[in-house]
Amino acid sequence: MRTVLLGAPGSGKGTQGVVLAKKYKIPQISTGDLLRAAVSAGSELGKKAKSAMDAGALVSDDIVIGLIGERISQDDAQQGYILDGFPRNIPQAKALDLMLSELKQPLQSVVLLDVPFEELMQRLTGRRTCVECGAIYNVHLSPPKVEGHCDDCNGDLFQRADDNEDTIGNRLNVYQEQTSPLVNYYQQQKKLHSLPGRGDVDNITSMVGAIFDSI
Ligand code: AMP
Repeated sequence: MRTVLLGAPGSGKGTQGVVLAKKYKIPQISTGDLLRAAVSAGSELGKKAKSAMDAGALVSDDIVIGLIGERISQDDAQQGYILDGFPRNIPQAKALDLMLSELKQPLQSVVLLDVPFEELMQRLTGRRTCVECGAIYNVHLSPPKVEGHCDDCNGDLFQRADDNEDTIGNRLNVYQEQTSPLVNYYQQQKKLHSLPGRGDVDNITSMVGAIFDSI
């Protein structure tokens, strides 16, 4: 099952990706997570990516396309994957299509999580992520039972460096200008399914799951 979760920063791609990856036993592949791991490891790639990430800008296409190519060729991705945060512009989408057509494994479905723009800022400033299992909370909207700790595994929760108001503004602009044209791109390929990304999280999971089941 080769799928993409599309949506603005804070639309719930990561939250849904973690749950759906477990349910369908396929990896969630997040370029943001791969880049953050490279930054933490202090690798050359991480050093190149860091300034763009800190500014809320896109990291160069060459870097992220290379990361994705490597990741989808790994053993655990042979039954499929959920891409989260990639592609983020038309050149990345075209590079992905080319890569997958060479493998004769085209994308099957793209799910857009549609959230009103006004809600995204609150979601992003309140976001906290579990360092152990990746579960995502929101201190305003869906707080953990014990402050600072994951309900599932008790791991520490952290706030991402780029979840501050200045950087969030840039990230939302980048989404509008560079990523939202993908809606039309995948509509033309008849692969796009659009869902409301607000409301009960489990309900959204069921709706995305119904789309995945129909592939
Ligand atoms: P995310 O975790 O998806 O919100 O991504 C965090 C940051 O990583 C973004 O603001 C970008 O700087 C960078 N990034 C993640 N995915 C991509 C991508 N597909 N293309 C370019 N930059 C990316």
